[in-house]
Amino acid sequence: MRATVTIDQELCKGCVLCVPVCPPGVLVMSETVNRKGYRYPLLLDGCTGCELCAKVCPDFCFEVYREPNPHAGDRLA
Ligand code: SF4
Ligand code: SF4
Repeated sequence: MRATVTIDQELCKGCVLCVPVCPPGVLVMSETVNRKGYRYPLLLDGCTGCELCAKVCPDFCFEVYREPNPHAGDRLA
């Protein structure tokens, strides 16, 4: 399954709760800070859409989007 998240960087308080809960480890904290002075997470490739980041974030920074795999019915040649 392909998935992605959007991250509201300006809502983030830099608590870093989201980074260790991400099973594939595709969240990393930024080097730069938002307008409130906090580092915020950035998304790398490989999100599975598990929603753990959205569940753990106290500030509701994440929205998760899943798309069905368009090749799910294909057979390998
Ligand atoms: S939805 Fe899951 S895999 Fe994707 S960034 Fe959040 S915790 Fe990581
Ligand atoms: S859990 Fe939410 S507030 Fe905490 S660092 Fe991650 S995005 Fe920011």
